[in-house]
Amino acid sequence: MSRDGIAELARRRGFLWLSFEIYGGAAGFYDYGPLGAMLKRRVEEAWRNFYLKEGFYEIETTNVAPGEIFEASGHLESFTDRAVVCKHCKSFFRVSEGVDVHEKCPECGGELESAGEFNLMFQTRIGVPKGERDEEAQKKSEGYLRPETAQGIFLNFQRLLRFNRDKLPFGVIQIGKAYRNEISPRKSLIRLREFTMAEAEVFVVPGEKNDHPRFDEVKDRKLWFVPNDGEEGEKSVEEAVRSGIIANEYLGYHIAKVEEFLERIGIPQDKLRFRQHRQDEMAHYARDCWDAEFFSDRYGWMEIVGVADRGDYDLSSHASHSNTDMGVHVQMQAREGEAEKAKVIPHVIEPSYGIDRIIYALLESSFYEEQVGKEKRKVLRFKNEIAPIIAAVFPLLNRDELKNKAREVFQQLRNESIFVEYDDSGSIGRRYRRQDEIGTPYCITIDYETLEDDTVTIRERDTMKQVRVPIGEVKDVLVVAL
Ligand code: AMP
Repeated sequence: MSRDGIAELARRRGFLWLSFEIYGGAAGFYDYGPLGAMLKRRVEEAWRNFYLKEGFYEIETTNVAPGEIFEASGHLESFTDRAVVCKHCKSFFRVSEGVDVHEKCPECGGELESAGEFNLMFQTRIGVPKGERDEEAQKKSEGYLRPETAQGIFLNFQRLLRFNRDKLPFGVIQIGKAYRNEISPRKSLIRLREFTMAEAEVFVVPGEKNDHPRFDEVKDRKLWFVPNDGEEGEKSVEEAVRSGIIANEYLGYHIAKVEEFLERIGIPQDKLRFRQHRQDEMAHYARDCWDAEFFSDRYGWMEIVGVADRGDYDLSSHASHSNTDMGVHVQMQAREGEAEKAKVIPHVIEPSYGIDRIIYALLESSFYEEQVGKEKRKVLRFKNEIAPIIAAVFPLLNRDELKNKAREVFQQLRNESIFVEYDDSGSIGRRYRRQDEIGTPYCITIDYETLEDDTVTIRERDTMKQVRVPIGEVKDVLVVAL
């Protein structure tokens, strides 16, 4: 696969554009063009449906929050990265990506020196502080853009608990923007300063983390584990939990679910592994954390999803900072077998997906080129579930009677809410190639036979095989394929 092929294709065909390009762009910001936005929407929709099927509910909370939230969550103090700067070319680098103060500058080979710790949150002001000299008012008006969506869920915990009829466990999801003022991002969608996260927060009784009601459904799934200490290798989720590699069933269940989802949308299983964080890379709130990593031909192994056991860190911290009771009354099994009431602060298991990195992984792993006759065919082998466009409708030739019929079929499908495109420009071969390149699974061609017997050909992207189908059945073929 050519590495630059996909970047060029993504730009040319309207998947990804550098933000503010006409002003020279800015590192860490990308816009999604029409096809990229569609692809992203479909991935988010697949994600949402996947977790709604788990019985979780979705909420939507704000992107801006007052400073005290992040004082309580620990982000103001601990959400930092270390930076080094080159004495020669003055480039900044984030420590931990193979760059260290003892090494040479990756850009110019110059000597590096420590540039200290940087907090990654973007600061803003909420409203106009009363009296510019009033320090307290100034402080009160400090706001931040959220660095993760999770806090909005924790802050609403009491209301969510009530919504769930005061019962544990329950899960809540949120998809939205997160903002991190990354030190000198250089890797397209991998390290952005504004990106989309999809997070699930699962609240569970601490003593029941080893008792997931649906663990049996995932226990035989085999994954590649890279534990903190010990050998890496393939194991079933059950083996990993029973042998203590994964700390508890809840964490094991959600790691397995992450893999199931990634596979469903088309990330190849042989490019995935689960790596446990070392103690020194763990976030300030985490007790244990596993990353789903994708092997990129361009960047090597990279995190696309993090699955953390956050314990009671967030709820306890917000409870004490806000003076709110976050405890839940639960039935506990007493020693003699009698049930007794106890009050607990729930623990949180959190799968946290970075949608943009997933989009990158999908683009890279779906892209291939092959020789067909004298031509090179470029294809994005997207699964039907996420393809931006399901089918394209073509008249075989540029004649009015064929064009009219093709437009009619196109409109019928659109009216059925099936997202199809119409194209009558260039040779039929070129039109097929255009659709292959943007990952459209089917092309529907209208020819003279169509005018006689109301049948069309449907050509499948990967095999390039064609079948003849009555117009009335096209919709069913596409819907079944979905
Ligand atoms: P974290 O909270 O750091 O574990 O991040 C959760 C997920 O968000 C990661 O697995 C990434 O997929 C994604 N992510 C984190 N930082 C960035 C970033 N700067 N740009 C794009 N995606 C990111």
